[in-house]
Amino acid sequence: MAKSRKMKFKTEVNKLLDILTHSLYSNREIFLRELISNASDALDKMRFESTRGTEVHDPDLALEIAIDVDEKEKRITISDTGIGMNEEEIISNLGTIAKSGTEAFLNMMAENGKKDEKNKDDASTIIGKFGVGFYSVFMAADKVVVTSKSFKKDAPAVKWTSDGMGSFSLDVLEDAEIKRGTSIEIHLREDANDFASKDKIKEVVTKHSNFVNFPINVGGEKANTVTALWREPKFKIKQKEYDEFYKFISHDFQEPMDTIHVSVDAPVQFNALVFIPKQVFDMFGTVKDDRGLDLYVNGVLIQTKNKDLIPEYLAFCKGLVESPDIPLNVSRETLQENLVVKKISQALVKQILNHLAKKAKKKREEYEAFWKEHGKIFKFGYQDFENKDKFADLLLFNSSANENADQLTSLAEYVERMKKDQKEIYYLTGASRAAIESDPHLEIFKRKGLETFYLYEPVDEFALSGLTKYKDFELKAVEQADLSKLDSFKEEEKEGEEKAKSLSKADEKVFEKLLQRITDILGDRVTDVKESHRLHDSASCLVNPDGTMTSHMHKMMQMMNKDATPPQKIMEINKDHKLTRNLLKIYKADPRDTFIDNTAEQLFESALLLEGYLTDPHKLVNRINDVLEQSSAWHPATK
Ligand code: ADP
Ligand code: MG
Repeated sequence: MAKSRKMKFKTEVNKLLDILTHSLYSNREIFLRELISNASDALDKMRFESTRGTEVHDPDLALEIAIDVDEKEKRITISDTGIGMNEEEIISNLGTIAKSGTEAFLNMMAENGKKDEKNKDDASTIIGKFGVGFYSVFMAADKVVVTSKSFKKDAPAVKWTSDGMGSFSLDVLEDAEIKRGTSIEIHLREDANDFASKDKIKEVVTKHSNFVNFPINVGGEKANTVTALWREPKFKIKQKEYDEFYKFISHDFQEPMDTIHVSVDAPVQFNALVFIPKQVFDMFGTVKDDRGLDLYVNGVLIQTKNKDLIPEYLAFCKGLVESPDIPLNVSRETLQENLVVKKISQALVKQILNHLAKKAKKKREEYEAFWKEHGKIFKFGYQDFENKDKFADLLLFNSSANENADQLTSLAEYVERMKKDQKEIYYLTGASRAAIESDPHLEIFKRKGLETFYLYEPVDEFALSGLTKYKDFELKAVEQADLSKLDSFKEEEKEGEEKAKSLSKADEKVFEKLLQRITDILGDRVTDVKESHRLHDSASCLVNPDGTMTSHMHKMMQMMNKDATPPQKIMEINKDHKLTRNLLKIYKADPRDTFIDNTAEQLFESALLLEGYLTDPHKLVNRINDVLEQSSAWHPATK
């Protein structure tokens, strides 16, 4: 017999093992779920191989999982008849961690471990969610022996032994009479001896692994149900069964927020079971890569997390699809172009959107909870042109008609409240409700009582401008609106408000000259300086020349291009503002007065500052300090 080799675990495995062996064990039993889930994966792969006629070892072995308990020796053995592993595979699968996000996960766990006991407990639910897989066995074992024989012809069986302390040993069992599959012998730690009981194991199997698609025999008795829940008629299934099934496939410890069970006969036949989780588990920003639905054909799992079945904006959905219309021997590469998969996806997306529409209509509060959790991802659906209308109806944003930043308004609600003859829907992007409400561009919309959507997230503006229209109404950024279209809407005057007197003909001329003077001061930093028709409370603002993108979009482009030059804009001056009126007097006294230069610079830089373009505030600050110093001389106490 070949001699045993000793090999070291990779660093990340040691880190994980260290955390696992030292964490609290309120959730220790999940190690069984993890090992059973691996066995089930291996059996799924086996079924897949045999349906495509691959030549395999022991083709007649029944596909099943067996768990045997030696109560006296405190030992459990979990065996499966799946695809098994050869020497190379066992070294890489049970010596490293390939999972994405592992690094981040380990660092976070290490951080949590340093904190108090309570956090440690939280860590164990995180372990559950992350699915630490095989290595979780060391939460319960002080020695593990894995014996495996690959389905591939001429691969000898291998034996892997470890105490989880930095290394494992490997033996190749050249001549041994071992059947295909994997068997894991677990020597229980003393503090985990309670698992050395058939009843205990059965209990854990029904709790976490009831829906495994292969029989699990505990001490020779079948312990799980083995039903393809998605094929059952809906009226026969209780919500509790859906919940358990969801927890089983997602490793989530909470019930799902929504369950969508679909059976379609035409144009393609398929059953689907889709769940919306209560919470996105996106600690490492992997939701979009990690998305997809499992694809079954006649009970055979063809692919896990198939991304063609569900678009990116529904990435939060978990579940599976089964269809007899896909050929069993389809290769994963051609699945992408498979027409049936495309049709299933189209039908499924419609079903999910219909479900959400019903929820939005009938259970607004619950829909808002969905929105707050998943809206961020969902908003990317503006790219789904086929479902544009359905998608638009599901959008919610904060609006000027809401009382606070938490409330939400749909496009339909906006339209219902619209003014007679209003043809456009307005929106404005900003960092917060307070920031938007003090934005000079909004003044005229507020004065005219025109509702405006307040957008806070980068994707929001893409979503609305991407739609371009809702029903017959154009979606318009406040900055880009054609103000002449607002003429027919009356301004609401505030009580006790003083209206500026109109300028004399002569003063109108001076105003023109003042604008020219400011144009000369700012030079090519602006494209033009003009009288404003949108301002009321502010003296000036910057606006986009026609047809250019909003400042928010522009800034995002700049971020991508790592560029920070402010765009050339039009500076608008409020003719009725007190400051402007004073500037007129100063100009009349001396057109060259430097006060005009300082004011123009200050107004310009303040506008840049508000829009987030001012990179060096030194000049602005110095100017303000000078003004403060001068104005302090007017304070009565200094007279
Ligand atoms: P994951 O299941 O997320 O890939 P695990 O740590 O649970 O991670 O398992 C690591 C790998 O070891 C699996 O991907 C699989 O290739 C292999 N493996 C584990 N258990 C078995 C088994 N019973 N039969 C065959 N391969 C297995
Ligand atoms: Mg696993």
